[in-house]
Amino acid sequence: MRKILFILIAFMTLIACNESQKSGDHGSIFMTEYDTPFGTPPFDQITFEDYKPAFLAGMEQQTEEVEAIINNTEEPTFENTIVALDNSGKTLSRVSRVFYGLRGTNTDDKMNALAEELSPLLSAHSDNIYLNEDLFKRIKAVHDNSVNLNLTTEQSRLLDEYYKSFVRSGIMLNEADKERLREINKELSSLTLKFGNNLLKETNNYKLVIDNEEDLSGLPASVIANAANEEGKWVFGLQKPSWLPFLQYADNRDLREQLYKAMYMRADNDNDNDNKEVINGIVNLRIEKANLLGYESHAHFILDDNMAKTPENVYGLLNELWEYALPQAKAEAAELQKLIDAEGGDFKLASWDWWYYTEKLREQKYSLSEEETKPYFKMENVREGVFEVANRLFGLTFKKLDNVALYYPEVEVYEVVDSDGSHLAVFYTDYFPRDSKRAGAWMSSFRGQQVLDGENIRPIIYNVGNFTSPTDDTPSLLTLDEVETLFHEFGHALHGMLSDVNYSGLAGTSVSRDFVELPSQIMEHWAFHPEVIKLYAKHYETGETIPDELIEKINRAANFNMGFNTTELVAAALLDMNYHTLTKQVDLDVREFEKNAMEKIGLIEEIIPRYRSTYFSHIFSGGYSAGYYAYLWAEVLDADAFQAFEEKGVFDKETAKLFRDNILSKGNSEDPMTLYRKFRGADPDPKHLLRNRGFID
Ligand SMILES: [Zn+2]
Repeated sequence: MRKILFILIAFMTLIACNESQKSGDHGSIFMTEYDTPFGTPPFDQITFEDYKPAFLAGMEQQTEEVEAIINNTEEPTFENTIVALDNSGKTLSRVSRVFYGLRGTNTDDKMNALAEELSPLLSAHSDNIYLNEDLFKRIKAVHDNSVNLNLTTEQSRLLDEYYKSFVRSGIMLNEADKERLREINKELSSLTLKFGNNLLKETNNYKLVIDNEEDLSGLPASVIANAANEEGKWVFGLQKPSWLPFLQYADNRDLREQLYKAMYMRADNDNDNDNKEVINGIVNLRIEKANLLGYESHAHFILDDNMAKTPENVYGLLNELWEYALPQAKAEAAELQKLIDAEGGDFKLASWDWWYYTEKLREQKYSLSEEETKPYFKMENVREGVFEVANRLFGLTFKKLDNVALYYPEVEVYEVVDSDGSHLAVFYTDYFPRDSKRAGAWMSSFRGQQVLDGENIRPIIYNVGNFTSPTDDTPSLLTLDEVETLFHEFGHALHGMLSDVNYSGLAGTSVSRDFVELPSQIMEHWAFHPEVIKLYAKHYETGETIPDELIEKINRAANFNMGFNTTELVAAALLDMNYHTLTKQVDLDVREFEKNAMEKIGLIEEIIPRYRSTYFSHIFSGGYSAGYYAYLWAEVLDADAFQAFEEKGVFDKETAKLFRDNILSKGNSEDPMTLYRKFRGADPDPKHLLRNRGFID
C-alpha cells in the first residue's frame, strides 16, 4: 500500500509541474532515495524551487501513509502500526534534513521566508499525526497487549516511546484543549523561528570598523590579518572568532567595551530585531501548554522525559556546583584586579576586561599564550587527530571523497570505513564562519541509520563549526577552545556514525538531552591528553611535533579560569531553569527578570551569564529549553566514563568496545542509565566532575 501511494504522489507532482513550467519537476529530487555516491544529497542539482513542493508532497505522502495505517483492516500489530509509523514520511524527512541543514549553514532571505511560511504547516502536520485519535487507538491496542507480543528490548522501547510521545503531545485531552494546543504549537514554532532570525540579523548588523592602526595595539598579527578588509580597514563583528580575540588582546579598553556591549546587547536594542517580547510570548505559551498537559511548569514537563526527571534534581546539581564556582570566580576577579592595580590602571575590573587580563595572567602564571599554541593546531591536523583517535579506539578509517556534491565550496566529505572494511557512514566537515551561517558548532545528519527491508541503511553525518578562518598567508590555526569544540562535535558525529539499531526513531543521537552530551563531552578528554596530542599537534610550518614542555603547560593551565567558566555556565543554566519553572502566566519584563535571577544567586557584575536571554538560542530557538543544565548533567557521566579509560589506558580496545557496544551504537534503544551501567558496571560517581574542574583533589 505504501509503495503505491508513494509512486502516485511522485507522479502527480511531476505532472502538475510540467503543466506550469517546462523547466522541471520541482521537488521530485526529494521523492526517492538519491541516485548518488552513498546516497548523499545532490546539492549540485537541488534548487530553492525544489523545497516547497517537496515539503507539501512530503506532508501529503505521510498523511496518506498514516491513513493507510488507520484503515488497515487487520488487527493492530507492532509491525503494521508502530513500525509502519516509524517508517512513514521519508520524503518529508529527506527534504527537511537538507533544507534545515542548509538553513543553519548557508541561508538567505528566501530560505528564511520559506521557513517562516512552512513553520505553521509543519506544526499542524505534526499535530495531525500526534493528536489523531484513530491512530492512537491502534497504538494503544498494541501497547495494552505488549506483554503478549514477545517483543525485543528495542521493540518494547520503540513502542513505549511512541505511546509516550502521543500522551505528551496531548492525545488524552478533550477536543477544546486539543484545539488550543494546536494553536499554541503553531505560535510557538513561529516565535522560536523569529527568535533565531532576529538574532542572526543582530549578529550580522553590527561591525566595529577600525581605521586607526593604533587601535589595533595588543592584537596578534593573525587576528589583525583576519580582520583586514579590502579598503585597508579592520573589521570586527559579533561572531565569536572575531569578538573573542579582540576582547583577549586589544589594549584599547573603550573599544573592548564597545564591542562586548554590542555582543551582549544583541536582540535587546528595542529595535525591529528585539527578542524581549518574543521571549515573553514563548515562555507564557510554554507555561500554558505544560498546564494543559497536567504539568506544573514547562520544566516539569520537559524533565519528566529526561534522566534528571525533576527540577529539584537539576537545581540540586546546579546549586552544588555554584557553591564551588562562585567563590572561585570571586578569587579570580580579585587576582585580575590586582593585575590592573599593579599596572597602574585606575579602574574597577569590568566584564569587558575579564578576557584581556585573563590572557595576561595566563601568560604570567603558566607562560602560556594562545599565540604560542595556535601554530600546532592547524585545523586539518586537528581533524586528522580526531580521525586517529577514532581509528585507535574503534578501528575506523576516513577516506576523502571527491565525487560528492557540496553545498558550499569549503565543505569536505569523507567516507568512514569500519574496522572490518565495511562502509560505516559519510561524514562532512564545515568549519568556518560566514554571514549565512548561524553561530556555534553542531552535528546533524542528512540521513539517519536504520535497518529497512533487511538492509542496514548507513547514516550521513555532518559537523559544523565557526572556527578561525584561514587567511591569505596562514591556514586555519585553532585556539585551544576551538580544538576542544572540534573534538566535542566529533563525539556527537561518532554517536551518529556508529549507530546500529533497527528503528529510525531510536537511532543515533535521538536520546534524551541530558544523555546526548556524554558521547561528545567524553571526546574532549582525549583532545589534550599527552598520549593523544603528540599524534596530531604538529607545527604548521616546520612539521615539528608539539614540545613536551608546551603540552605540560597546556595541561597545567587546563583548570585556569575555571571559576569563571563554571560560573557563567551555571548562571545560564539557572536562568533557563528560572524561566521554565514559572508555574503561572505572567507579563514578563525580560531585563528585570534576568537581573533579578542573577542577583538572587549573587552573580558578580564582572561576569555575565554565558548567554543572556535575548541571544540564548539554545533555550528559545534550539531544543534545550529547561535543558541547558544537560551539559553539566552529562559531565557527571563523561568525567566518570573517562575514568574507565584512564584506569585501563586511553586507547584501551576493550574499554572502547564496551563504550561502542553499550553507548555509541545503541541510540535510544534502552534506558540511558541501564546502558551506562552496562558500560561501566556501576553508577557514575559525581566526584569526578568536581575533580575534572579542579574543585576538589
Ligand atoms: Zn554537544
